[in-house]
Amino acid sequence: GEWVYRFGGGKAEGGAADVERLGGKGAHLAEMASLGLPVPPGLTIVCDACTHYFNSGRSLPEGLKQEVLDGITAMEELTGRVYGDTARPLLLSVRSGARASMPGMMDTVLNLGLNDETVRTLAVDSEDPRFAWDSYRRFIQMYGCVVMGLDHEVFEEILEDEKAKAGHEYDTDLCAAEWQEVVQLYKHVIEEELGEIFPQDPHLQLWKAIGAVFASWMNPRAATFRMLHRIPEEWGTAVSVQAMVFGNLGSSSATGVAFTRNPSTGENALYGEFLVNAQGEDVVAGIRTPQSITEEGRLASGSEKPSMEKLMPQVFAEFRAICTRLEAHYRDMQDVEFTIERGKLWMLQTRSGKRTTKAGMKIAVDMVEEGLITKEQAVCRIEPPSLDQLLHPTIDPRVERHVLGSGLPASPGAATGEIVFTAEEAVHAEEEGRKVILVRIETSPEDIHGMNAAEAILTTRGGMTSHAAVVARGMGIPCVVGAGSMRVDLRNETLIGVGGVTLHRGEVITIDGSSGQVLRGAVPMIQPALSGDFAKLMAWADETRRMAVRTNADTPQDARAARDFGAEGIGLCRTEHMFFEGERIHAMREMILAEDEKGRRAALAKLLPYQRSDFTELFSIMHGLPVTIRLLDPPLHEFLPKTEAEIEDVARAMNMPPAFLARRIDALHEFNPMLGLRGCRLAISYPEIAEMQARAIFEAAVAAAKRTGEAVELEILVPLVSLRAELDYVKGVIDRVAAEVGAENGSPIAYLAGTMIELPRAALRAHVIAETAEFFSFGTNDLTQTTFGISRDDAAAFIPTYQRKGIIEHDPFISLDFDGVGELIQIAAERGRRSRSDLKLGICGEHGGDPDSIRFCENVGLDYVSCSPFRVPIARLAAAQAAI
Ligand code: PEP
Ligand code: MG
Repeated sequence: GEWVYRFGGGKAEGGAADVERLGGKGAHLAEMASLGLPVPPGLTIVCDACTHYFNSGRSLPEGLKQEVLDGITAMEELTGRVYGDTARPLLLSVRSGARASMPGMMDTVLNLGLNDETVRTLAVDSEDPRFAWDSYRRFIQMYGCVVMGLDHEVFEEILEDEKAKAGHEYDTDLCAAEWQEVVQLYKHVIEEELGEIFPQDPHLQLWKAIGAVFASWMNPRAATFRMLHRIPEEWGTAVSVQAMVFGNLGSSSATGVAFTRNPSTGENALYGEFLVNAQGEDVVAGIRTPQSITEEGRLASGSEKPSMEKLMPQVFAEFRAICTRLEAHYRDMQDVEFTIERGKLWMLQTRSGKRTTKAGMKIAVDMVEEGLITKEQAVCRIEPPSLDQLLHPTIDPRVERHVLGSGLPASPGAATGEIVFTAEEAVHAEEEGRKVILVRIETSPEDIHGMNAAEAILTTRGGMTSHAAVVARGMGIPCVVGAGSMRVDLRNETLIGVGGVTLHRGEVITIDGSSGQVLRGAVPMIQPALSGDFAKLMAWADETRRMAVRTNADTPQDARAARDFGAEGIGLCRTEHMFFEGERIHAMREMILAEDEKGRRAALAKLLPYQRSDFTELFSIMHGLPVTIRLLDPPLHEFLPKTEAEIEDVARAMNMPPAFLARRIDALHEFNPMLGLRGCRLAISYPEIAEMQARAIFEAAVAAAKRTGEAVELEILVPLVSLRAELDYVKGVIDRVAAEVGAENGSPIAYLAGTMIELPRAALRAHVIAETAEFFSFGTNDLTQTTFGISRDDAAAFIPTYQRKGIIEHDPFISLDFDGVGELIQIAAERGRRSRSDLKLGICGEHGGDPDSIRFCENVGLDYVSCSPFRVPIARLAAAQAAI
């Protein structure tokens, strides 16, 4: 139909390819039904209907109702039940399901069709009146909250009172009569609060529930989630209406969730949890700690409770076979939900499973080796930014651990921080720059913001598939869940560990998401080894990509780290960063403050040995690889003292009167240092600076080649050029020094001289500039600054406002502005190559480590990207994906 797609009985309209229309859940239910898997019959209302709902004053589109009713007729034929009938009532679930997975963000209503009459039939049919009345009260509660807008607490209070009155501890202790009493009280409270009675007409229930689930697309939780995950509002959600199956019909019924491989380690073993005699939301909510599906999993967890494999061997065998089939069909690890109703297995959902990056690596590599996917597909399976997770520190195994308690290792990596107990506190602390661990009994979708702000998450309740576990893995932050040996005392704001050790809010703990341990205080950490699956996958990425990946490195440490991460050279060494330390800053200040060339040359003579030895070390580390050294490009004021006290200190150290120093600083003052005497303007004003740097570079190249036996590929970069004549002038200085040093050493020195393209004029005049420049390096930080006319240092004051108001989508200093800055890059690349066909092109602005920007660079045909050392693996993978 136009609005409705049906599935069930081994057939389906639509399938996995229709995710855009049917949402993830609907599309894969249809796919499973077509594969002949046991899926309760149902129908999916398309996402467009949601958009229509909001565009037409929250009403359901014309024609939709009839299509739904026809679909229900088909379900009735398949189940032998009738919706609204009192003798053989069909009960329905109404669930949301958007294109992208948004776990727990939108609403669901179960058990539709129950009313004062059908509940009695259900009581007789199920041979368990307790079950019937419990289902009815769950329905009233869900409907009351989702459709009628009442607070959850309203119902919870009634239930708590009822339990207290009867002396029960658990919900499961209530008998049928007590549940019946709860039902009465629930209905009563609805009347009292809303002046409305709880609707008895199943069709009215249905239309209201469908509308409410559509409406939940716009609830604040869902809106926040969409913002965090960049999900467009226009997508809307689909709604699936499906025949209910019950996992809470006694000991031969159960419900559970499973991953076809271990989502934490990637191990190729079925992995999941289930609860006997329970409804689906009981598992996800983490209220009872569930049991393992497999015997292997049970042994690993040390649980006493029997596995599904032992308890229900036949159903388990069928379930395992279905999982294998689904994995082979989708060629990816699946995350499935199922229910067993009196020994009969029903599949309720399948989707590609969320996994840690480590697991993602292993699964991708294993699946290539199993022949399920190609190397290119494996390379595309990993989100480049998620590699960050692998670079997380882990706890040094040699240190003694003061264990406060332990739980399940839900998301790997270790982190240290202060204890906070609420999401708000976590957000607040992050804003203040404090590192915190969010400690909760359990988390809920309302906590998303706080989870994002925390270094790690600890819960005392729930399993590996609880909300906290799933969300933390998705965010790549360490997480321990179900730490049952620990207790959270919210009233006193304390966390009580094993043996009664009490920790207060603000005390420091360390979470080891890989072992599940919670440790006292801060603990020494080590970086992980980048071997095994990581190395294999990265090798495949390297085979695939066209662009080279270099690093921005100013120090030997940076250079070494970057080589370990696979950098193929240095794309940018900012020489000004070498002058901040120790003795050097004095000589640097002397140089800046000198009143004439003679004074400057004297200071430069002191700087030369520092530069030469720095470069020699850098070249030795990078031997055989290209290294791009940029001439000095500082806003000079960065090197000068600012406060009066600082001025006095510096004056004393430099042996000059403070008043003189203050006067020189005044004379050097610029209104707009970013657009002032920097870049090549400095080398043109004071050529002796460029001379000294060129000499240091060339002498170091000679020394490093002697030391390592291999020459670096030397590239000298002139910053902030907008005129060819500027470059000609500075290149003249460089060439002259090269000839001198070459003559002194008896052999010519090989190098390239090139320019940054970081001003719009340079991009436009690239064909002229390329007559002198042998390479271009796009400095997209400055190019973004000067194209937009937005100061890079002041942008933070209004960019977030622009984003919130929808004026721009991304911060252009993080993700390249393809339309504007991108067009300038394209123009420069094309014009530059027109006049010099072998012109080397690279990017060294921050965008060189941003996957979207890297894709753009691939499309423009740049030769390399250069980024900070820790981003090198991300850039290697992103460059490979861009080339596929
Ligand atoms: C740039 O402008 O993009 C660049 C790499 O130079 P810097 O950030 O040092 O100005
Ligand atoms: Mg720059």
